[in-house]
Amino acid sequence: MSRQAGTGNNGKLQATILKKCDRSLHRPPTNQQCAAGTCQHTCEPSQIERCRHAWTVRYTVNGVQRDKSFRDEMDAAKRVLFGTGLKKAQDFQLQLTRGKRAQGRTYVDPRAGNELFGPAAVAFIASSALDAGPDTRAGYMSCYRTNVRRFERRTLAQMATQAAADEVDELLNVTMAGKSTGQRRLARMIITGTMDAAVKAEKIGRHKLAGINLTEGTTAAPAPGRKQSARVNPSDA
Ligand SMILES: [Zn+2]
Ligand SMILES: [Zn+2]
Repeated sequence: MSRQAGTGNNGKLQATILKKCDRSLHRPPTNQQCAAGTCQHTCEPSQIERCRHAWTVRYTVNGVQRDKSFRDEMDAAKRVLFGTGLKKAQDFQLQLTRGKRAQGRTYVDPRAGNELFGPAAVAFIASSALDAGPDTRAGYMSCYRTNVRRFERRTLAQMATQAAADEVDELLNVTMAGKSTGQRRLARMIITGTMDAAVKAEKIGRHKLAGINLTEGTTAAPAPGRKQSARVNPSDA
């Protein structure tokens, strides 16, 4: 269940109202909590209009996903007033999409972009989109594990932002400066190929990772202390 009232000028979804208990969000292959049976997906889609769980507005600001939840109110006799929580969520959604659009921030559909980058990259390397034999794919996986895995816990939506593009640029041109051009190109191909596949599958609208150039200095050893670790929190980028 998703109420997509908040579409902007470009038609892109800006904030989604959902119920965290919605069984249609259950994704054991890509969500660790679903796979482990510890997720909140307890209610069938047909039940969620009238279950006791809160309505949630889920939105993404500069690559960081945020949730705000609203419960149905009760009357004096403690009867649940179904729909009141949804109404509050819709009011918040409206307020949010109006206010934040004015600040020029980026919103993406969080439901579609919720998948993690890591499994998506591994799937891309194994996919028929790549015309490669087993040895070549093994080489790609090795490059992924060594250089690209730092982004594995990011969502596809987080990886689609300009902040992520800056980090990928830093990875390719600073962190990997001492590595071969072939390895740097390969790391770039794995990242952009994964994101292109996500666009094609309509998991994200678009991404900002195309056109990152490899700069000079590929043969020079990295200066001590120049090697930078990836930032874990995208919000400080
Ligand atoms: Zn689940
Ligand atoms: Zn429920």
